[in-house]
Amino acid sequence: MADKTNKISENVSGLFYVDDQCIGCRLCTTAAPNNFKMNDNESTAYVYKQPENNEETHDCESALDECPVDAIGNDG
Ligand code: SF4
Repeated sequence: MADKTNKISENVSGLFYVDDQCIGCRLCTTAAPNNFKMNDNESTAYVYKQPENNEETHDCESALDECPVDAIGNDG
């Protein structure tokens, strides 16, 4: 389970976030490309835009469910 006290610093504020358990597998950037991207050195993903419609919310929830190390939270 992701921990909002250990958020990656690049996350925009809001509901969804990536924490420091991320292993940079890129799955979330494929599942929710409108909301997740890799940081400059490609070491970790972060939320660059919170979902703004039902489709984006669904995609973010899919990314959360599929993250192999539970690094995505939705209690930000
Ligand atoms: S799916 Fe999880 S581990 Fe993979 S890049 Fe996204 S947050 Fe990181």
